[in-house]
Amino acid sequence: MHTCCAPCSVYCIDSLRAEGIEPTCFWYNPNIHPYTEYKTRRDCLKEYTKKVGAELIIEEDYGLDEFCKNVVDDIPNRCVNYCYFKRLSETVRFAAENGYDAFTTTLLVSPYQKHEELKKVCEELEKMSGVKFLYRDFRVGFREGQDKAREAGLYMQKYCGCIFSEEDRYRKQIEKHQRVVPLEGVPRESRAGEESGDRTRWEASC
Ligand code: SF4
Repeated sequence: MHTCCAPCSVYCIDSLRAEGIEPTCFWYNPNIHPYTEYKTRRDCLKEYTKKVGAELIIEEDYGLDEFCKNVVDDIPNRCVNYCYFKRLSETVRFAAENGYDAFTTTLLVSPYQKHEELKKVCEELEKMSGVKFLYRDFRVGFREGQDKAREAGLYMQKYCGCIFSEEDRYRKQIEKHQRVVPLEGVPRESRAGEESGDRTRWEASC
């Protein structure tokens, strides 16, 4: 199971286990930037999988340069045109070479991902590789998983992963700051509450 982070893995692991399926988590996320964020999410997943007794395979690839070169010409469509395929094709390659029955991804839990396009990418990879795509609409358990992740004290990230998604996350603040022209003697507009962003609570969804 391609695994983007610990919080998203909570419901996916629980619900697959409830079906009698024991997933192997596979960390391959060269889309997460900067490096401190990449490391924090990876290490949180290491701790969480150890705690719940799930197998974790880590394929290290901090890929800022390659990622940016591949998405820079079409940043709005970067998820579908590059990021999903990049991460999942590596997952499928690993699954095929190591005899796994099927593949899936924790990205299917997030209501913030392009679910239908993501599903299509997985279906294409299934056809190309012959490795079965285990589709589940994990979104039904998104809230449950988030609540459990908070209770477990997991690191709850504030943006999807790439540096462009971090900009999207803070877009309103950035635009607001860019509109403010500080003039000597003129009080700046109140910024009360701006640091809290769009969401009332952080959600750790990728
Ligand atoms: S927003 Fe998320 S899924 Fe989309 S390109 Fe960035 S890291 Fe990948």
